[in-house]
Amino acid sequence: SERAAEVLGLIRDVPDYPQPGVTFRDITGLLADGRALGDVVDSLAAFAAGGVDLVAGLEARGFLIGAPLATRLGVGFLPLRKAGKLPPPTETVTYDLEYGTASIELRTGTLQQGARVLIVDDVLATGGTAAAGVELVERCGGVVVGVAFLLELDGLGGRSRLAGHQVDTLLRVE
Ligand code: IMP
Repeated sequence: SERAAEVLGLIRDVPDYPQPGVTFRDITGLLADGRALGDVVDSLAAFAAGGVDLVAGLEARGFLIGAPLATRLGVGFLPLRKAGKLPPPTETVTYDLEYGTASIELRTGTLQQGARVLIVDDVLATGGTAAAGVELVERCGGVVVGVAFLLELDGLGGRSRLAGHQVDTLLRVE
């Protein structure tokens, strides 16, 4: 839609960041625009139409849109944090990066068995981070009812990494 194109226009492409050859999509300009931020949260809320009990956001930009989304839906928020940030007890999932590995953690006991969880992040690239989020929530007894993103980078295979789950994105770019 026209509005989607306007919101997309607030995302800045930064060439060769954080490494040569990579184009970073910077959402800080979108976050700073009150109407765009509201529209994004409202639009993401539509992805929870089937009913959710909790929103889980991936650190760090998944917090910025996941927490207002949770408030909008009237449900709680679960931070899926980078390793070493949460006090114990935690569950940990380690996943592969282009170089090396990363881990994300969830405080055990914050998630009721069978709770319906919507996982949220800003950008879907290769899908490795979100797939780790799915594994973490499921390992803690949650039911992942969807994975929602502000922006999908097409052609990196992210969607196929999340096969078997409902994947919804507001905006897509090549
Ligand atoms: P993936 O695991 O390859 O799908 O990468 C997604 C993760 O990296 C998400 O947590 C994003 O926040 C972050 N990310 C990857 N590319 C970008 C980008 O261009 N802009 C902002 N965040 C990005």
